[in-house]
Amino acid sequence: MKDKFVIGVDLGGTKICAALVSLKGSIIYEKTIPTNVQEGDAAILSNMAALIEGIIKKCELSMNEIKGIGIGAPGPLNLVNGEIICTPNLPFKNFNIVNPLRSKFNVPVYLDNDANAAAIGEYMFGAGRGSRNMIFITVSTGIGAGAVLNGDIYRGNTQNALEVGHMTLKEDGPLCNCGNRGCAEVLASGTAIAREAKRVVKEGTVTSLCKYKNITAKEVFKEAKLGDHRAKEILNRALNYLGICVANVMNCFDPEVLIIGGGVSEGDSMVIDEVKRVVKKRCFKIISENTKICKAELGTNAGVIGAAALAILESKKV
Ligand SMILES: [Zn+2]
Repeated sequence: MKDKFVIGVDLGGTKICAALVSLKGSIIYEKTIPTNVQEGDAAILSNMAALIEGIIKKCELSMNEIKGIGIGAPGPLNLVNGEIICTPNLPFKNFNIVNPLRSKFNVPVYLDNDANAAAIGEYMFGAGRGSRNMIFITVSTGIGAGAVLNGDIYRGNTQNALEVGHMTLKEDGPLCNCGNRGCAEVLASGTAIAREAKRVVKEGTVTSLCKYKNITAKEVFKEAKLGDHRAKEILNRALNYLGICVANVMNCFDPEVLIIGGGVSEGDSMVIDEVKRVVKKRCFKIISENTKICKAELGTNAGVIGAAALAILESKKV
């Protein structure tokens, strides 16, 4: 049978996950390997190629059954020539990962940033199914987003649209990795929640957070639920900023669906509840009343299914 499957690859700083995915978004076979960044760019690329080759072999398929390969990678990327420009957790500098894989496998290879890939995944196979206009925001160590507008991903002039994590929310706020101050990411991400918790503990405040050696957002959610006031305060502040960020995005795009994914949203239902509360207060009424705000559905598979969905969506354009 021809063109029955796609391969989705989620390239991250610690692991590379690849999967054979049906055109309906089901994972047939999946395998993960460590990225081993210390081995350098060429080794990562050849390990990735071997991973894909292994999956095709394991599933006893031939290349003419594969419609294409989709890769989700951290940005910034140059999508015109298929390069990873640079990224903090991977050793790539203007490194082309598309052309070598295309020559090796002789199928179309599509690259996009991981947030866009996850957005396409949710649009085709997750919480955004059936919508035409949809925004996906991922909140984990950072904050990223993707927009599907009129059935296609919106990339912008330089393919870097929807950097909502770097929307300024507090003019003189904490310094962000991007060099700016008071970005959404530095006020509302999982990293921001953990940083605030550590600061509060260091100040000697009375809080049940003191008992943890290594505090992440997860512990803050846990202690807030158990009634710790400082943990609650930290979360309220961060989720209020996330709500403002979402309200701003909704006022710009007026989407049918706004999906929140990533580790922080997985943590607790209070994320969606708080975002809805702030949005109701701050967003243009006609927009907020008509946008469905919900949690992402693809969970831990968002990376590979998103990359596979990218290949499916893009290959339809040819
Ligand atoms: Zn920033």
